[in-house]
Amino acid sequence: MLWMRIKYRLGLLYKILLFKIGLKKWLLKDRYGERILVFHGIDSIGETKYNSRFISKFFFEAFIKHISTHYNVISLDDFYAKKFKKNTLNIAITFDDGLLNNYQNALPILKKYKVPACFYITTIHEKAPYLWADFLDLVSIHTKKEEIVFQNKAYIKNQKNEFTHQNVSLKNIAKTITYKDIALLYDIFKEDWNALPKEELNEYWELMSPDQIKEIADHPLFTIGSHAETHASLINISVATAKEEILQSKKSLENICQQPIEEFAFPFGYYTEELAKYCLEVGYKKVLLVDYNIKSHAENEALKNRFVMNPYITLEQQLACLLKGSYF
Ligand SMILES: [Zn+2]
Repeated sequence: MLWMRIKYRLGLLYKILLFKIGLKKWLLKDRYGERILVFHGIDSIGETKYNSRFISKFFFEAFIKHISTHYNVISLDDFYAKKFKKNTLNIAITFDDGLLNNYQNALPILKKYKVPACFYITTIHEKAPYLWADFLDLVSIHTKKEEIVFQNKAYIKNQKNEFTHQNVSLKNIAKTITYKDIALLYDIFKEDWNALPKEELNEYWELMSPDQIKEIADHPLFTIGSHAETHASLINISVATAKEEILQSKKSLENICQQPIEEFAFPFGYYTEELAKYCLEVGYKKVLLVDYNIKSHAENEALKNRFVMNPYITLEQQLACLLKGSYF
């Protein structure tokens, strides 16, 4: 773990150095292949304090402009149909989590450069107006509480504004529980949530509305897929509940979009062979992961891994890592 971190840091330093001494061409030298990218939030200023997965709309535009000029950016349908060009990088773009900021900030840029993309939406909006991770990020920063009790365990706020119990963060626990228990967490922080300047922070929690989801589904450049119902880690809840999330989210989104929903992205990329198989059984045709658990899964044409964008590096570093297909 430590060695990987050192290797990552050294790799980034080496890239900065090469850019600084003018060896950019060498670093961005031709690399070929295929990548499906994952974005999360696109905000106005690239603030990572509230959400460590967001990049700014300026970075996003510069990145989209670059890749649509220099590489072959295609729809996920074409990616699955292997409509690749030789001697270049073939790229498809996806967004996870269904945040309103995708609609507000990413969509105009994607339309401007005519870049196709897929949006993976949780159907949590039927139960709550936010995802639990964004809720916890925001209340943890703003609350005056130093300690809370959840499921008979005391969680103490640390310097990074995380509530932890014996070094396990509340966010990591929240991944593994179902909505019924998440709702108890909402109660604990209800007053803190009500006291937040929510208008000001809307880019960090607000989700797309059903009308906006439908508008995206109807646009020829874009597709809507499911990201399950509650953004739980589907490998940590019961198999029956996980399957229900996979199926119910499909039905809900089909109801909203009035068209078949055939793409599914596992929350956190966590999956099992059984759940991936279930996705195909209920009619998903494209199942998106982050990494393959087992190498042989790469041979299943329906399952694809994805390259997650990194909000903490420069555009040049991001491009160099993308071309290499790895951050290491
Ligand atoms: Zn997600």
